[in-house]
Amino acid sequence: APDQTVDLRELLNSTLTMLKRKIGEGVRVTTDYTADLPQVQVYAAELNQVWTNIIDNALYAMGGSGTLTVRTAREGDHALVEIGDTGPGIPEDDLPRIFTPFFTTKPVGEGTGLGLDISWRIVVDRHGGDIRVHSRPGDTRFQVLLPLTVR
Ligand code: ADP
Ligand code: MG
Repeated sequence: APDQTVDLRELLNSTLTMLKRKIGEGVRVTTDYTADLPQVQVYAAELNQVWTNIIDNALYAMGGSGTLTVRTAREGDHALVEIGDTGPGIPEDDLPRIFTPFFTTKPVGEGTGLGLDISWRIVVDRHGGDIRVHSRPGDTRFQVLLPLTVR
């Protein structure tokens, strides 16, 4: 079972710091961390990969300008991490397929179509969590749910 005890704010901030150059000048980053979130037991390096994959997609979608929002909240017995962007959104027809291995809408060489597949396996299979997606033009949110207590 996941055995590293972490503060999600610290994990998210370290990912944001690592991505600082990639985020660039044109993208505003907003963080909104709830104060009442207990620490969680996770595989920290793997979760960093999840945030990186989701933020990578958000940055690509915004094409250099927009707002990236990183939020935490408590949802019952789960921690919620929400990563939002102001890009064009995900077409409804694509939504059921985005977690499928090799599904990509990017030109050859720019996407492998594996980022969300890997993220799903890390969150759902490795941590017993879930990922939800809400998307409309200008407002796309990936919501990662992580159990607060590991069985
Ligand atoms: P890749 O980034 O290599 O294409 P991913 O698995 O990371 O593969 O994402 C799959 C697809 O999901 C992307 O090609 C894109 O069509 C869609 N997608 C993911 N995140 C976003 C987002 N924030 N905005 C718009 N489309 C997205
Ligand atoms: Mg990707």
